[in-house]
Amino acid sequence: IFILGIESSCDDTAASVIHNGKILSNVIANQKIHEEYGGVVPELASRAHQQNIVPVVAQALAKANITKDKLHAVAFTRGPGLMGSLLVGTSFAKSLAYGLNIPLIDVNHMQAHILAHYIEEEGFNKPPFPFLAMTISGGHTQIVRVNSYFDMTVIGETIDDAVGEAFDKSGKILGLGYPAGPEIDKRAKLGNPKAFKFTKPKVDGLNFSFSGLKTAILYFVQNETKKNPRFIEDNLNDICASIQYTIIGILIDKLKTASKQTGIKHIAIGGGVSANSGIRQALKDGEQKFGWTTYVPKFEFTTDNAAMIAIVGYLKYLEGDFSKQTVTASARLKI
Ligand code: ATP
Ligand code: FE
Repeated sequence: IFILGIESSCDDTAASVIHNGKILSNVIANQKIHEEYGGVVPELASRAHQQNIVPVVAQALAKANITKDKLHAVAFTRGPGLMGSLLVGTSFAKSLAYGLNIPLIDVNHMQAHILAHYIEEEGFNKPPFPFLAMTISGGHTQIVRVNSYFDMTVIGETIDDAVGEAFDKSGKILGLGYPAGPEIDKRAKLGNPKAFKFTKPKVDGLNFSFSGLKTAILYFVQNETKKNPRFIEDNLNDICASIQYTIIGILIDKLKTASKQTGIKHIAIGGGVSANSGIRQALKDGEQKFGWTTYVPKFEFTTDNAAMIAIVGYLKYLEGDFSKQTVTASARLKI
């Protein structure tokens, strides 16, 4: 079974072809334009998707070494995401499926971040049901109880900023480029995580909050800079290490509670922030400390990609779960 997956929810235009769950191609066109603005500009993202989508899909087919008449279905991201961006992938997928007279399959981007664990990949185990998935990305922070492929419940989520935003906004305060997550990660390895202490937010239950942390960091940096104008430059690695340490502490605390509450010890992470080396290490440590079995996806399947859309397409194809041509993009689609 050959499935084409198309992802265009934010600022990456991506297409992937998979054959029975194995990746044949996984193409991504990143949009550089947003770096100048320090964040994604929706209108520019939409226009760039329009320019990229045809060549990206063509490249995905070429790399997979198949022609489009071999495809069994077209899967696409229906939401959540930026409306203008989603519309490009949605319209394209609909037209292609219609033209080829094959099934169209809509995919929830957040489910896809979780089900990326089911991509056939040597050396990577698939989590058994039920498991807990913590999705940590630029737009979301969720703990999801996954009972089966399409039976999942969000049991905790952020009440304000997403964890990726916490990284990116902290980075902005420190004068780092966008997105700042990868650079904070790199610098954190060279710094002392206990150099500076930031208080963790108190949020009931399994929910998260990150906006207070960002403000705390802002005031802290402003204060210290008054005393030493070169405070940021002099301490950048230590500041990054301390911020990352605080964020990871918040995430692991909630995972511990979720695991205790549900009695589930199979823990998976997904989403762009799961590329973070600190959270990967903390999860590994959880295996000894809490008896967890943990699942971390291959690096390229953590940030936005179309392979995760294609794998969900494949799983839905097996269940005969197809979409109508009248399906519409949905910016706030829920799990
Ligand atoms: P969503 O999936 O919620 O719609 P998104 O698609 O924008 O959001 P992703 O592409 O999954 O998000 O993740 C992007 C985020 O991941 C950015 O905030 C980026 O800073 C963060 N990120 C990427 N690599 C790292 C890293 N090594 N450490 C910390 N954060 C990282
Ligand atoms: Fe994403």
